[in-house]
Amino acid sequence: MSHEGIRFLSKEEQERQERENRRTAALSKEALTPLKVRVLKTEGTGVEIDWEDGHKSQWNFAWLRDACPCATCVEERLNQNRAPGQAKAKPTQLLPLYEPPARPASAQPVGRYALQFNWQDGHSSGIYSWDFLRRHCQCAECKAAAAPTPTTIQ
Ligand SMILES: [Zn+2]
Ligand SMILES: [Zn+2]
Repeated sequence: MSHEGIRFLSKEEQERQERENRRTAALSKEALTPLKVRVLKTEGTGVEIDWEDGHKSQWNFAWLRDACPCATCVEERLNQNRAPGQAKAKPTQLLPLYEPPARPASAQPVGRYALQFNWQDGHSSGIYSWDFLRRHCQCAECKAAAAPTPTTIQ
């Protein structure tokens, strides 16, 4: 048996390919069917979803607010070259104002496919589909596997 002709991908190439696959691959029905959705509004922490395929996802509210999928926010992020969930660059101030972390006043399901938040800042046009959420899972495992994004100091 000759292994000639088989090209081994470098680690970077493999990782790039895996990321690309993850971004574009169709997710299974089980991966997109939430068994349990917890919106931890009182705790102020974020959202947790247990999926039918056994995966447990989590997102904090600040991430969700900065990942708003409405047309206005998507366009703003594109213009500022920000990834979903990436916070806006804050203007440098001598005395930084305290900004309370994003939190929804309420949240409700949209049909059987999405979640909508009424943010305390008054914004509520984003519809967070299960597909969008699952693809942007912020659990430790998925985050470690995802492309490195610039970290922001909170
Ligand atoms: Zn928005
Ligand atoms: Zn995950």
